[in-house]
Amino acid sequence: MKPAPFSFCAPGDLAGVLEALAANGEDGRILAGGQSLVPLMNLRLVRPEMLISINRCSELDYLRLEGDSLVCGALVRQARAEESDLVQEECPLLAMALPYVGGQANRNRGTICGSLAHGDPLAELSAAALVLDGEMRIAARDGQRTVAAEDFFLDGLTTALQPGEMLAAVAFQRQGGDERSAFLEMGNREHGFAVAAVATRLGMVGGRCEFARIAMLGAGPTARRIRAAEEILTDSEVDDAAIERAVTAAHDIIEAPSDLHADGEFRRHVLTTLLERALRQAMAGE
Ligand SMILES: Cc1cc2nc3c(=O)[nH]c(=O)nc-3n(C[C@H](O)[C@H](O)[C@H](O)COP(=O)(O)OP(=O)(O)OC[C@H]3O[C@@H](n4cnc5c(N)ncnc54)[C@H](O)[C@@H]3O)c2cc1C
Repeated sequence: MKPAPFSFCAPGDLAGVLEALAANGEDGRILAGGQSLVPLMNLRLVRPEMLISINRCSELDYLRLEGDSLVCGALVRQARAEESDLVQEECPLLAMALPYVGGQANRNRGTICGSLAHGDPLAELSAAALVLDGEMRIAARDGQRTVAAEDFFLDGLTTALQPGEMLAAVAFQRQGGDERSAFLEMGNREHGFAVAAVATRLGMVGGRCEFARIAMLGAGPTARRIRAAEEILTDSEVDDAAIERAVTAAHDIIEAPSDLHADGEFRRHVLTTLLERALRQAMAGE
């Protein structure tokens, strides 16, 4: 199928993109890597009047450190971040999640911010943004605002972005020296979307967990933090008993949806198994 007719523009800078967004309101859509938008347009599930490409905006193609954050501009391709030493060094959890995002071909075009803005409930990068205390930098012609990752994902394919706004960048918290991370996923096929996934990040000081971050895909209508388990691990040695209590707490709050790919009970079982494995893997430093 072919997309419904649309107009197209490709401004050379952010100001031009924001102007086009303001001029087109609900009828304007950002085109980044096109890996999700173009298939949806071809299926006529979305019919933007005006496609606003950001692919000529080189000012949005940056990965840089800013204080405690690793900041990623809206045009950074997933493959570039995957190959980046800076990402590997500063946000190892992000580097662990990236290879799970589809196949190489779509990562070569797909952007980090495009995945976050798309808001797929099974998108690995949403879970990474949650455990890395991501901050979404949202821009519009008349101003900017920031939204924490946890307040950004509202429902399936629904984010806090308003008409006329774009995600100009995302700031991921840099991971400290003795942090332990793991990202584990179960999918129905290689390069396919996750059926269930777990991201864990443990800040260890003197053998005790100073802070814990756990996010899951497939545990609700969006990627979500599992605070009940985080609280149990915090200030513990993350030993067998603490891991068992954390897994039980997660089990009790998971609201796993049933769909074509898996039923809810199966997903809950997979998620609790992945969580136990991820915590052991993180503590083993694997
Ligand atoms: C074969 C295949 C397999 C895939 N497998 C996975 C997978 O396993 N896991 C996964 O997470 N994803 C997967 N994807 C999706 C892929 O990661 C997309 O790249 C991503 O979802 C969207 O990023 P994009 O840059 O391609 O955005 P686009 O497709 O260009 O845009 C997606 C949506 O976000 C909006 N948008 C994009 N950028 C911005 C911005 N900066 N500000 C505001 N709105 C914006 C667009 O208007 C559109 O509505 C797969 C895609 C394909 C084709």
